[in-house]
Amino acid sequence: MNSRAGDNERNERDSAIEALRASEEKYRGILESIEDAYYEVDLKGNVVRCNSAFCRMLGYSVEELIGLNNRSFQTPEVAASVYATFNEVFRTGTPAHSFDWAMIRKDGSTVVGEGSVHLVRDLQGEAAGFRGMLRDVTQRRRTEQALRESEAKYRGILDTIEDAYYEVDLHGNIVLCNSAFCRMLGYSAEELIGQNNRRFQQPEAAASVFATFNQVYRTGVPAHSFDWQMIRKDRRTITGEGSVQLVRDLDGKAVGFRGILRDVTERRNMEQALRESEARFRALTNLSSDWYWEQDSEFRYTRMESRRAGAGSIQNSFLGKRPWETELEIEGFGGWQTHRDLLAAHQSFRDIIMHRLLADGRPYYISVSAEPVFDASGAFAGYRGVSREITEQKIAEERIQHLATHDSLTGLPNRVMFSHLVANAIASAQRYQRNCAVLFIDLDRFKFINDSLGHEAGDQLLKEISKRFKKALRASDVVARLGGDEFVVLIQDLQQETQAATVARKLLSATLKPITLGGRDCHITASIGVAMYPQDGGDEQSLMKNADIAMYYAKDEGKNNYQFYSKDIRAQSLERLALETNLRQALEREEFTLHYQAKRELEKGRITGVEALLRWDNAELGPVSPARFIPIAEDTGLIIPIGKWVLRTACEQNVAWQRMGLPPIHMAVNLSARQFTDERLVQDIAAILQETGMAPNLLELEITEGMVIQNPEHALRLLREIKEMGVRLAIDDFGTGYSSLGQLKNFPIDTLKVDRSFIRDIATNAEDKALTEAIIAMGKTLQLTVVAEGVETQEQENFLREHACDEMQGYLFSKPVPAGEFVTLMTAHLQLTIL
Ligand code: C2E
Ligand code: MG
Ligand code: MG
Repeated sequence: MNSRAGDNERNERDSAIEALRASEEKYRGILESIEDAYYEVDLKGNVVRCNSAFCRMLGYSVEELIGLNNRSFQTPEVAASVYATFNEVFRTGTPAHSFDWAMIRKDGSTVVGEGSVHLVRDLQGEAAGFRGMLRDVTQRRRTEQALRESEAKYRGILDTIEDAYYEVDLHGNIVLCNSAFCRMLGYSAEELIGQNNRRFQQPEAAASVFATFNQVYRTGVPAHSFDWQMIRKDRRTITGEGSVQLVRDLDGKAVGFRGILRDVTERRNMEQALRESEARFRALTNLSSDWYWEQDSEFRYTRMESRRAGAGSIQNSFLGKRPWETELEIEGFGGWQTHRDLLAAHQSFRDIIMHRLLADGRPYYISVSAEPVFDASGAFAGYRGVSREITEQKIAEERIQHLATHDSLTGLPNRVMFSHLVANAIASAQRYQRNCAVLFIDLDRFKFINDSLGHEAGDQLLKEISKRFKKALRASDVVARLGGDEFVVLIQDLQQETQAATVARKLLSATLKPITLGGRDCHITASIGVAMYPQDGGDEQSLMKNADIAMYYAKDEGKNNYQFYSKDIRAQSLERLALETNLRQALEREEFTLHYQAKRELEKGRITGVEALLRWDNAELGPVSPARFIPIAEDTGLIIPIGKWVLRTACEQNVAWQRMGLPPIHMAVNLSARQFTDERLVQDIAAILQETGMAPNLLELEITEGMVIQNPEHALRLLREIKEMGVRLAIDDFGTGYSSLGQLKNFPIDTLKVDRSFIRDIATNAEDKALTEAIIAMGKTLQLTVVAEGVETQEQENFLREHACDEMQGYLFSKPVPAGEFVTLMTAHLQLTIL
């Protein structure tokens, strides 16, 4: 019945209640058994349910807690943050985890729970409250806080130290660094942390750092004081001197490295600079100095160190002595006194030269430099310095000085030195109201000797002449060589002009004595010009110039004499200058012509030939005699082109005359000494013969004795070559030189021209008459054609005919005439002889 149904109903309800209770019991059991706190609050935050762990956490009983709002066990700030979290969970429905919830226990102490919160919904799904778990992390948080604080403190300390601190992991990635480290590299901590240390190093530096770290890793032994080159953010390289040690975790496992770095860039740079400067100094002293020395405050040598092996022992003997007690001389004005004053004034000095003779007589020079030394209190303590042996340099310098002021061939002073001496002489002559003289000497015909005998013979001659000049002079007089064959003499302290004349005569006779060159006696003369101070020039330049002018005058006066300078001479020398200037342009201006002087057979009266004689007509100077301009042409070398022109013109003329129908006659052309030494002479003659079509046997070249006698080998070779071409040869002006016919017989000569000076006086001078007779006779025996020059009178002609002279040339028959006039002469003459 109902009761049964009622029982069933009750039973079912009971068992449901029982099941619920059992389930609740089970959950409660579980909740009670877990160590974490469990809570449930309604939407207002009032505790609805909690476990005993929650109660323990807050120090309240369950009864006290149920119905209590969470705000009552929280500070307002925490409550606000908890509210915010709950609110978020409420809005989103998403649970929150791991939030810290600081609560105030019943006893007033603080407890921190790390908790979670979930939304609780009723059966209808409406939000009804929150539940969650809380774990007591008070202790942990406290430890964490302590750790943070200690870390901050630690970091604070790290940041206050000036050295850079770093920690890297095993890969070398930076995990920690202090601000000094950041400053050192110029990066912020954020830029550095996590970066590999290689980023701040050159590859080579990184390799060496790696090696160090690796060693520390392997051995566990920290490394100290290793240099670590790094590149800053601004690309500058810096050097850190650092240490590194292994960082281990709690288990002792290596996890990285840490260490200190000190910026030593500047120090290293300075050390490097110091090393370099030290090396430089060492190199310098080694290179330039033999000795390092020190002196005490009394200037006594206290230390002598040789920097070079084998540096003599001379300087060792200086120890204990003062410089002026060492037997050294000192160079420079004032000598030792000046130097001692300088030392007393504690001044530094450079390259002071001291010298003495060594025991073996060799000179010994040192160059000394030093600076004063002051002690810490500033008191003078002495000197320290270096000295260097400069003997060789000194000798070289003296040699250079000598070379610069002396002529290397003769050892005589040169122009530079002479000018200097003359200037000095003038200065002192001025001061003491005295005279001095300059003699300008030029050797006559030196060029010819030099060219024909060779330079060696020329040099030998100059040396010999130098010696003779020196011997002929007083010690106070100076002879110098200006170059070539030019010498100058300075006579100082002259009382009278005649004294200068005496010296000039002495010099002339000194040259006259024959000089043996290559086994042959050579005759040389000189021409001397004299200029006196003060009347002929007030300074060195004008004295020299005027002596030179006077010398040229002496040359013009026939050489082998001396001349004093005068205003007249000056005018003449100016004329000579004008001649020379114009002569240089004469060829291109076509100012030269040839005149032809006939040569006539004495026996039959036939014209056998002509001599071509050069004429110069200058627009400015008028006609100039060859006697005046030929020597200048020789001196200047212009005779070579002029001579070629003469030869060509003469040959062309000869060929032209024959074309005109005149009978073939000889054409004589004069050769100068200078042409005779020209290497191309033979070649030129051959070419001209070839080009003009002149028959070689009609050409006769006139040379003088001197040209043959000076260098017979050369002359013989040359004359033979000319002869081989078929050209005839004549000796011109015979009798004026030093030669004899005996000497001439070895040469391939065809004609002998007796000099005009013999012919001139044959009528009056018995000696000339005899000589001329002898020349004609001997010429005949040598089978030469003998020609008499300068025949002006019938008397002379008669004499010559009587003595069987072959031909004659002279005004008596014909003066030298232009080519056209010669044709007239020749034509008239031909008709005459035919008739
Ligand atoms: P030289 O070769 O002995 O020539 C003869 C010189 O005597 C010529 O003088 C001539 O005019 C001159 N003369 C001829 N007959 C008489 C006379 O009866 N009485 C006098 N008082 N003089 C007479 P010029 O032409 O003045 O030549 C002088 C010297 O110049 C020549 O002497 C010769 O050595 C040289 N010379 C002339 N032309 C040349 C040339 O083309 N080349 C070379 N190298 N020298 C030349
Ligand atoms: Mg002649
Ligand atoms: Mg002559």
